[in-house]
Amino acid sequence: MKNLILSIITLVTLTSFIAVDKVQSNNQKTTSEVSSVECKYSQCTAIAASTGKTCKHCVSNEGDLYCWQHK
Ligand SMILES: [Zn+2]
Repeated sequence: MKNLILSIITLVTLTSFIAVDKVQSNNQKTTSEVSSVECKYSQCTAIAASTGKTCKHCVSNEGDLYCWQHK
């Protein structure tokens, strides 16, 4: 709990020094990372065995469904 409060104080302190436009771009990046990963072609559709979630790797060729690890 003490660490959490410390983190929040640090975050607020840091944020006050960062330009507003940089904060906004960080927020947008976080949002897009949650929904999907930006890839040149598309994201791997396999489920990662280690996490049980959709693989976050990108496919290496257009039209591919899986990354190099899930082929
Ligand atoms: Zn994959």
